[in-house]
Amino acid sequence: SPKIIGLTGGIGSGKTTVAHFIEEFGFPVYYSDDRAKMIVNESEDLKIRIKELLGEEAYDANGLYDRKFVAEKVFNNKEQLHELNEIIHPAVKIDFEEWLKIQTKYLVFKETALLFELKLNRQCYKSLLVTAEDNIRAKRVMDRDGKTYREVESVMEKQMSEKDKIKLADCIIHNNTNLEDLKEQTERIIFSIE
Ligand code: ATP
Repeated sequence: SPKIIGLTGGIGSGKTTVAHFIEEFGFPVYYSDDRAKMIVNESEDLKIRIKELLGEEAYDANGLYDRKFVAEKVFNNKEQLHELNEIIHPAVKIDFEEWLKIQTKYLVFKETALLFELKLNRQCYKSLLVTAEDNIRAKRVMDRDGKTYREVESVMEKQMSEKDKIKLADCIIHNNTNLEDLKEQTERIIFSIE
């Protein structure tokens, strides 16, 4: 079975951009957050359990998961966030294992924001961290999402620090300059993994 490389990075680090480059270089990427979004809409069992935990409003009038409502509700409620994760993460794990079974490349990538926080790196052959200075990440997210500095900062404060992630990572991409440099680093790193 293929080697799994865990791809991670904090908010605005550029991990999704790197993931897209990796696909351009011909390797498959499993996008954990995107898959999670899909699963909460498709699984009736999850729907029931999430509504039980967070209320009917966790799903909108069309029966679709209301990410904004949920994010706001659990943002300052550690216990509820934990319970929500206990519902969603095992389902994503199963989905990933199904996905893995049909892969044919020797190397596959799993993009997960919480790779280290959830200790998912233990189930990976190696971890690949995309990192950038806080002010650069903040500016990118402000430009991308129209968020204020304070809003981005409040998310950063809740995430594991870059310093701690750097200590845990096997491979590191420093994304402080431009996209050309980012792509070059990505290429160099993925083709040197052995
Ligand atoms: P999040 O966790 O918030 O989803 P992310 O780590 O997936 O963030 P990206 O979405 O890849 O980060 O990048 C954040 C924004 O910064 C995007 O708009 C992206 O196009 C831009 N960006 C990333 N790297 C660079 C770079 N080196 N130069 C210029 N823009 C960049």
